[in-house]
Amino acid sequence: MKTRILSTTENDIAEAAGIIQQGGLVAFPTETVYGLGADALNAEAVAKVYEAKGRPSDNPMIVHIARASDIGQLTPMLSEDIVNLIDNFWPGPLTMVLKKKAGVPDRTTGGLDTVAVRMPDSEAALELIREADCPIAAPSANISGRPSPTRAGDVIADMNGRIDAVIQGDDCRVGIESTVLDMTGDTPVILRPGIITAEDIEAVLKKEVKYDEALLKDKQGEDGDIRPKAPGMKYKHYAPKADMVVIEGQRDKVKAEIERLKGLNERLGSKVGVILFEEKAFVEAAHDFFAKLRDLDNEEVDLILAGALSDFDGVGFAVMNRMLKSAGYNIVKV
Ligand code: AMP
Ligand code: MG
Repeated sequence: MKTRILSTTENDIAEAAGIIQQGGLVAFPTETVYGLGADALNAEAVAKVYEAKGRPSDNPMIVHIARASDIGQLTPMLSEDIVNLIDNFWPGPLTMVLKKKAGVPDRTTGGLDTVAVRMPDSEAALELIREADCPIAAPSANISGRPSPTRAGDVIADMNGRIDAVIQGDDCRVGIESTVLDMTGDTPVILRPGIITAEDIEAVLKKEVKYDEALLKDKQGEDGDIRPKAPGMKYKHYAPKADMVVIEGQRDKVKAEIERLKGLNERLGSKVGVILFEEKAFVEAAHDFFAKLRDLDNEEVDLILAGALSDFDGVGFAVMNRMLKSAGYNIVKV
């Protein structure tokens, strides 16, 4: 398949929208990461997304809409909390898991009776959805298991020849995927952390927001529990080609250990890449993390040494969630 490279001009977006309407696949920029889009209500089109990504078919997709009023096609009833979150955070990087309407194909939701919905804060994405005139199901536009793409070049590297078109836009502003919030129970539960934090949501809803158990286990891993070293293929996600180790501890010690391990491995002929973010610069870390992984892969390093963020808050937690998964929970404590 020849993949068309399109721009964000009106003409090109109209062409991309036509491809979506005909059941084709188009990668497009959002503020979080690039998405790989198909008509969310066309099960055959959605099946092609799973195929292009090599994604397990039980992993549901986020459905993107351009107007809050389009949510009625997807879910039967909105609570006051849901409407409040829409008013405060859309368009933006907050995905809500809601009860699904029968018309949403099982293919799109991985057979679940819920649907994940968001409105992206990117003009190109919103125009594409409006022009296509259908909700667009879009997971991240990477081969399953690889780091999410935050730049058009990253999408082309993974998807060239596998999809109909890529809309080449700016680099993604946020750099990590949206916060996923389960709104189907009494208490909102964060299933995936992002730059919209539990505190941000609590401030709007004036009620407690919980983290999914599995995320808290990761946090415990951070706080001192020794996590069994990976039989974790099931954890493997966002993985660079290189081996990757996260070094965790007090900052000076982390820096020293990275230098030590770097020297040691370079002497033995290994090409080593380092990821070490400025202290407390969580938003910048979110923006740069996936791009950095892909740059190091392009440089064909053998080993990536990543310094864990220290003393992190909500946004830092979201970055650490990705960092630990990328490394397959391969952690050295200093
Ligand atoms: P990605 O498509 O790579 O951005 O990933 C989408 C994320 O949203 C995955 O972690 C999915 O498991 C999650 N997700 C999508 N739909 C649902 C749903 N209905 N219930 C729970 N999680 C969902
Ligand atoms: Mg993904």
